[in-house]
Amino acid sequence: MLPQPIQNLAQKLRAFPGVGSRSSQKLALDFLQLAEADYLELLAAMQTVRREVKFCSNCGFFAQTKDEVGLCEICKDGSRNSAQICLVEKPTDVLSVEKSQVYRGLYHVLNNLISPLDNVFAQDTTLNELIQTRLPEVIAGRQKGGGGVANSQIELILFFKAGFAAEATTAYLREAIANLPKGPKLSITRLAHGLPMYYNPDTLDQATMARALEDRRHV
Ligand SMILES: [Zn+2]
Repeated sequence: MLPQPIQNLAQKLRAFPGVGSRSSQKLALDFLQLAEADYLELLAAMQTVRREVKFCSNCGFFAQTKDEVGLCEICKDGSRNSAQICLVEKPTDVLSVEKSQVYRGLYHVLNNLISPLDNVFAQDTTLNELIQTRLPEVIAGRQKGGGGVANSQIELILFFKAGFAAEATTAYLREAIANLPKGPKLSITRLAHGLPMYYNPDTLDQATMARALEDRRHV
């Protein structure tokens, strides 16, 4: 019933998670009815975000590439505590931890968790980058984020969805750290038990998140 171009656009919009056939059609129709100026601005904004937003060269979170250093706002913030690095799977998990409003450390995005059954190994994550490049920099005070101070005690905080992949990643990390030359004290903690076994990091509320961070345990 609707002209083919509208149906095509609606079909494309279904690529977004949570957009079904009804809402994709509504969005396509709303798009069609935008004023010319709004339409052009929307197109420009979409192009800019694709062109100018990349991943932080230090931690893997989103960063604006116009900035020549390629660091995200968190890594550029000199008041952040570089002795705490929160390990997350995806860049969007950083937003979940930030929502706690109590965490003032830095991050490291792994992109994947180790899962041998799915053929995902350490080289498919950024773990080796963390262990071989970033940690030595943090220890020596030559790090790009967190004000560049040397640290004698470093805490790696794990924020992974519970499961086999989280266990495999934790085991790999523990072993890699145990094999590092003697240096500053390195500890690994994870968020408090009591979180639902299969919690969704995207829907955790601020209070739960803050409590889970404050009650973290050594692993
Ligand atoms: Zn960063």
